Amino acid sequence: MKIGIDAGGTLLKIVFIKDDGGRVFRKVPALDIDGFADELNREYPEAEIHLTGGKAEYMSRILDHEVKHAIEFDATYTGLRQLMEEQDLHIERFVYLNVGTGTSFHQADARGQKRAGGTGVGGGTLMGLSYLLTGVEKFEDIVTLAKEGDRDAIDLKVHHIYAGDASPIPGDLTASNFGNVKSGDREKARHADELQAVIGLVAETVSTVGINLADGFGTRDIVFIGSTLLNNDVMIDTIRHYVSLKGMQPHFIENGEFSGALGVLMV
Ligand code: ATP
Ligand code: MG
Repeated sequence: MKIGIDAGGTLLKIVFIKDDGGRVFRKVPALDIDGFADELNREYPEAEIHLTGGKAEYMSRILDHEVKHAIEFDATYTGLRQLMEEQDLHIERFVYLNVGTGTSFHQADARGQKRAGGTGVGGGTLMGLSYLLTGVEKFEDIVTLAKEGDRDAIDLKVHHIYAGDASPIPGDLTASNFGNVKSGDREKARHADELQAVIGLVAETVSTVGINLADGFGTRDIVFIGSTLLNNDVMIDTIRHYVSLKGMQPHFIENGEFSGALGVLMV
């Protein structure tokens, strides 16, 4: 048994490769890292374990195994290329965004990947703002409720400002996330609307980063990975809409959040 682990800030992503080659994917909250290490020590004492991610060093200290380490960005890129290959996505030059607790963005071509930067706006922002605004705490509850919302009354669109006059950019673009909130709205806003606006803020921010990065890198292909996208229809629809408006192509990779855990077994 080989086990690849990407120990991220919020979630541990784990890929088990069985001796017959079969793959099993699993996620464990980073808060349960000690219990999960105990489980590996107990159930898989003979396994070959490869670690990456911000909590990899910590995890290696609590595992009984002789573990192997790899740099998170190399592991993620290797795993991502593997998943893209398997999913018949054959593009050579692209940018990708890993929307994890925070977001990091990268350029990729035939020579490999280069990390271009990061932003603190990511899945952790989604969780934190959602909870503070609405009290809804669980990721699954946030994304489910957000689908029923309507953020039109919360976000200020370009056409709101131009108010019927011709605008130089599409009126449907957001001019200011949360910028349409007026006095008295605090009592009126529904949680579903607020959650949708929070997801919209994160989605539009990472889309804009991706679009500018792709533009500068001379590609139209933007690949999105990270657990923040998981069953997150509002996020995916918003990214699709924003990226397509710019004539670019967003790609969402199935099991993309496991790129690092898969890749750490391959680098
Ligand atoms: P980083 O790479 O920034 O260290 P990470 O690897 O832990 O963090 P991901 O697992 O890619 O990051 O994404 C974490 C985000 O995924 C959370 O912030 C949250 O928005 C979302 N998420 C999806 N499912 C869950 C879940 N079951 N529990 C908590 N967060 C979840
Ligand atoms: Mg991560």
